[in-house]
Amino acid sequence: MNYPMNIAKSLKFLTQTLFLLALTANLGFAQKTYSKLPVSQLQSVYEKYKEPAIAHRRFKHADLQPLIQKHASAFKVEKLGESVDARSISSLDWGNGSIKVMLWSQMHGNESTATMALFDLFNFLEGKNDGNDELRNLLNSELNLKFIPMINPDGAEAFKRRNSLDIDLNRDAISQISPEAVILKKARDDFEPEFGFNLHDQQTYYNVVNTPKQATISLLAPAYNYETEINEVRGRAMKTIAGMNELLQELIPGGVGKYDDAFEPRAFGDNIQKWGTSTILIESGGYPNDPEKQEIRKINFMIILNALHQIATKGYENYSTEQYFAIPDNGMQLVDLMINEMQVKVNGKPYPIDLVIRRRESEANGSYYVSGSIDDLGDMQVYFGFETLDATGMEFTLGKVYPEAFESVESISQEKALELLRGGFLAAKVKNGTARQLHNLPIQVLKSTEKVSGGWMTGSAPNFFLSKDGQLKYAVVNGYLIDLQNPKTQEYKNRVL
Ligand SMILES: [Zn+2]
Repeated sequence: MNYPMNIAKSLKFLTQTLFLLALTANLGFAQKTYSKLPVSQLQSVYEKYKEPAIAHRRFKHADLQPLIQKHASAFKVEKLGESVDARSISSLDWGNGSIKVMLWSQMHGNESTATMALFDLFNFLEGKNDGNDELRNLLNSELNLKFIPMINPDGAEAFKRRNSLDIDLNRDAISQISPEAVILKKARDDFEPEFGFNLHDQQTYYNVVNTPKQATISLLAPAYNYETEINEVRGRAMKTIAGMNELLQELIPGGVGKYDDAFEPRAFGDNIQKWGTSTILIESGGYPNDPEKQEIRKINFMIILNALHQIATKGYENYSTEQYFAIPDNGMQLVDLMINEMQVKVNGKPYPIDLVIRRRESEANGSYYVSGSIDDLGDMQVYFGFETLDATGMEFTLGKVYPEAFESVESISQEKALELLRGGFLAAKVKNGTARQLHNLPIQVLKSTEKVSGGWMTGSAPNFFLSKDGQLKYAVVNGYLIDLQNPKTQEYKNRVL
């Protein structure tokens, strides 16, 4: 055996081993730089710091002011300006780090979910000695956060999308006709954040495309040009989103959609991306049995906190733009009620049709009512109903108005309303009360009209019966389905017509 050869071999082996060791160590190190925050930690932190003063989604500007003041010592609170109706818009700054992140919410007045989560987050950031100081100190030393909750306080007051000029602030990033748009643009320009979070709500009818899953959260790294190109700024937002999606898949498996990335030259998200801030859009959609969006508020809190941790540790670098593109697209395929194979007679001939019905909310007296509408009919296989009825063998049947007037809405009981429905009456008149008064009866109540409209064609009001062999089986009242034999408990958000 050749001795020197042996040494050479050993040396080669040693070099290879060292190289492999270095590689392994390096990989190990790369993995250690970021690990997703554990769901259990996020959950317990949320339960501890959830802001108890906000318990529903229709809170107002006045409700937030004492909460902002509560944080005036731990945060730098600054009044940035006023809305059209002279409501203050303030920012809250926290952290001594060098990575600037700006988060703004509710530029659409009726999209309040993330605002709630921001106040939960303020409580967490201000906390201490709770076993989370390591995380808090890391965020504090790496990040410089600027929060602007409720950019559109006038819209929030009326719980409507637009501001008091009836301008959609998300189409006012360039013209800046609205004082609220001026405030947001100036805040971005003065602060020049590396990352931005644009916090919205989307309609609850959004789903994960071609699935019955509601898109509880949709995410987007907005495009900065019509070609929807990817530069470093947008790519960083995409990677951060990929990390957020990984957490979301644990929280709401299959419930995450990718929002449409068509470039909108007037929108804030698109332009802030263009101006050099890696911008992340979070759209809060619907979640089963969560009308006040408190579950989605919690999810917002968790993904925002996790994303801030990702940004502080640069953990987003462990994700790829391919992972972002792998998130399925949003769809618009959910409806409140789907009725399949209902028979309608035209020229004496029966046709089996599927109907899809949506019940859209409108604001009234600090609460809301719904307006049912038949959105489409025919072959409805591309839709998914929150509720579906197979109406095979059942026939569309018009309802009547009960001939005698009741004293008031209050004088009609739930049981009386059901009795009227079973008798073929879809509406009851009242002598007293006002049109537009809210009620929760499973029947139409009339004050300003003697007639109830109903039909099966698109745009019709969904007021009718379904009958089988001459027997009434179901009533559809303002788009609500009522099983006449076995009515289930449900909340009706109706108003006097
Ligand atoms: Zn919005």
